[in-house]
Amino acid sequence: MKVGCHLSSSGGYLAMAQTAVSIGANVFQFFTRNPRGGAAKPIDANDVAAFIEYASANGIGPILAHAPYTLNAAGAEPRVREFAEATMADDLVRLERTPGAMYNFHPGSHVGQGAEAGIRLISDMLARIFDAFGRAPSTTVLLETMAGKGSEIGRTFEELADIIEKTESRAKGVKLGVCLDTCHVWDGGYDIVGDLGGVLDEFDRVVGIGRLKAVHTNDSMNVLGAHKDRHEKIGKGKIGLEAFRRIVNEPRLRSLPFYLETPCDLQGYKEEIELLKSLVA
Ligand code: FE
Ligand code: FE
Ligand code: ZN
Repeated sequence: MKVGCHLSSSGGYLAMAQTAVSIGANVFQFFTRNPRGGAAKPIDANDVAAFIEYASANGIGPILAHAPYTLNAAGAEPRVREFAEATMADDLVRLERTPGAMYNFHPGSHVGQGAEAGIRLISDMLARIFDAFGRAPSTTVLLETMAGKGSEIGRTFEELADIIEKTESRAKGVKLGVCLDTCHVWDGGYDIVGDLGGVLDEFDRVVGIGRLKAVHTNDSMNVLGAHKDRHEKIGKGKIGLEAFRRIVNEPRLRSLPFYLETPCDLQGYKEEIELLKSLVA
């Protein structure tokens, strides 16, 4: 089983991998820079080299880089969109240092412009970034399923499919993926507790199951369709432990990497990783 959690990147790549091993994880997620945005720390070539060696010796990966959650590719102001574009372009360049990583981002919020306009802005931005890159990056870029809080785009599988289709039709050779956040899809109205198989059937029909590359494994403080996005510890929320047992054993999910983003400290994550492993039949 590939399982881990979100870790602080303040100590660098090797420190994250060592922390992952110390809590029983073999994957991890991290922010590429301050989650509220801003400049990224310069990459330390020695740290990256030590990380790559340690990761291969310890079976760590794939690592999942998370874009700052303040990026809004669908913002109404050009300044907001330009910041998102420059940040994502820079993140993808930096991630070439750790080949085979994945990069997850929140599609954006249309802030009253309408989902269709927002989807156009997001796919235009992605196409420009890939175009400037000059080739398909070694990093797989993932759109995260969203809870639909405010004007968030990406609550429905249709919106994600639309962004993928509009981007790939222009960015040749690029294959986008999706990160399914269990709290977000539940809050977004997909009943993964009562009908996990049906939700995945729908995902397959609309997006294609092969697009699914990662699972953000979070319980939710809120009821189905609440559009709130408040993560809870596994088994302590409205999704509940039995649903997570089905999730980690589901044939279409079980080979994917599971990344916890629950309100836990390291010890709490260690226990949740053990818990998830114990659910595997
Ligand atoms: Fe996220
Ligand atoms: Fe998430
Ligand atoms: Zn969330």
